[in-house]
Amino acid sequence: MNRRKALKKGLSLAALGLASAAGAKWGVSMLNGLFNAPKSDRMPVLFVGHGSPMNAIEDNAFSQTLDKLGKELPRPTAVLAISAHWMTTGGTLVAEAVRPQTIHDFGGFPKALFDVQYPAPGSPETAKLVQQSVTQPMIHGDEGEWGLDHGTWAVLKHLYPQADVPVLQLSIDMSQPPEYHLKIGEQLAVLRDRGVLILGSGNIVHNLRVIRFAPGAQGYEWAHEFDEWSKARLNERDHHALAVDYHKTEAGRLSIPTMDHYLPLMYILGASNRKDDLRHEFEDIQLGSCSMRTVSFGRS
Ligand code: ZN
Repeated sequence: MNRRKALKKGLSLAALGLASAAGAKWGVSMLNGLFNAPKSDRMPVLFVGHGSPMNAIEDNAFSQTLDKLGKELPRPTAVLAISAHWMTTGGTLVAEAVRPQTIHDFGGFPKALFDVQYPAPGSPETAKLVQQSVTQPMIHGDEGEWGLDHGTWAVLKHLYPQADVPVLQLSIDMSQPPEYHLKIGEQLAVLRDRGVLILGSGNIVHNLRVIRFAPGAQGYEWAHEFDEWSKARLNERDHHALAVDYHKTEAGRLSIPTMDHYLPLMYILGASNRKDDLRHEFEDIQLGSCSMRTVSFGRS
């Protein structure tokens, strides 16, 4: 906030008798709500901890949260999904399929999960917009016609059960460090003004090597520790720490043995800005070592 704006806001607070030390923060937030109406069309950004593919067809607290969220979010023109399950090396691809196929990229699950289809249309127009918006690196069109992997459809099945919002995916270049992905997210932010919902789908804590399958299994202490550390950094908007310091503790190293499920968060951090309200939409540790933390930025 510049000095002039800050002064103006201080004056407004004083005029309404809200400028006491205790009430100032609340007052600013309330006034923002009043003065910003009508709301801008800028879309929020969303990171979803997707966990087990079974969440796609299970009725639980997490899936109910997504069901509700889908009804509350403004309706997007398209969803650009950055899923942990589309990894590339040495470049970033954007899917251009007109009719993306539902990819069942897992094994050992019930037939009911393999029977799920999510027939949302693609959006080659949005793919072009992505290519125009991100100049560093150059984003290549996907000749392999990647469809929708379960990191995307298992979430969207709850958010938009009618599969009537166009969806496309952006791949994650696994050869690059977190800051690189953060920068792509920054460039994608302009899509928010074009009605595009940018969705990151992964898990902040994701260690399949030590997963606990017993029903009601407790989360590991280190899983809770790193999840809470991430929450604190998110609340502080310390995106740099999330991109650089995540491996400095044993809890961080155990929580992120591989980068695939953590990197989608970087795109969402990059596409957010400090003016966006942050909401922790859901938090839980499932299967002992999987954080379901789901956050939105810019949802009013
Ligand atoms: Zn996954």
